[in-house]
Amino acid sequence: MKNNTLTFLGTGTSQGIPVPGSSHPVSLSENKKDKRLRSSVLLEMDNANIVIDCGPDFRYQMLREKVNDVDGIFLTHEHSDHIAGMDDIRPYYFKLDGDMPVFGQQYVLDSVKVRFPYIFFQNKYPGAPGIEPNIICNDDFTFKGHTFTPIKVDHGKLKVLGYRINDLVYITDASNIPEDQYEKLKNVDTLIINALRHEVHHSHFSLKEALEVVEKVKPNKAYFTHISQHLGFHNQMEKILPKNVHLAFDTLKVKF
Ligand SMILES: [Zn+2]
Repeated sequence: MKNNTLTFLGTGTSQGIPVPGSSHPVSLSENKKDKRLRSSVLLEMDNANIVIDCGPDFRYQMLREKVNDVDGIFLTHEHSDHIAGMDDIRPYYFKLDGDMPVFGQQYVLDSVKVRFPYIFFQNKYPGAPGIEPNIICNDDFTFKGHTFTPIKVDHGKLKVLGYRINDLVYITDASNIPEDQYEKLKNVDTLIINALRHEVHHSHFSLKEALEVVEKVKPNKAYFTHISQHLGFHNQMEKILPKNVHLAFDTLKVKF
């Protein structure tokens, strides 16, 4: 029995879809599945609600999914589309006993301090959120009784983290998975990985590259995320993908 639920809060690349001011047909699409907020997922597990990344759409995503509590935030990296919503964790922080546990690599947590300095002031103003930084290196870690495996992948020249939880893997913003990390992708049931567009990009997998990763990992099913308008219409893409591979869309839920 799979009791845990992952919800796609957003499946778009950094500008989201529609792109403001764009006349690209995908940006003009009326299909809800072509409307993509910035990439993030919610993990609902026994006694823990965890959000992976906290981008500029965080507040709206929480309202849309009617999320009552957030117990922790895992960061993949420090680009704005993944952390810009950090101030909006306040309603959840106020409900906690202490600071909000935030997990990430040392340099990512340092970057959060630079971008949100007032969160870390000694005499911070009343109402500012509180963050408890938790540094992740290469080793498994536990949170609220669950074990998580960090997967270190390349995002251009940057090292970013994917996460494995049971037999589900979430990787976004990757352009390469180092050979030694494939060990952590063995026997994966659900692989979530980024696929930006058809054309090659210097820091994100193209569709072809993402399909090659799926081919190599051989999960039972795969979902693509962090999608740009240039990948095409959701419904058209679904028709050409292999049977066990899908484009994710905002609000999609997956059991794991
Ligand atoms: Zn991104």
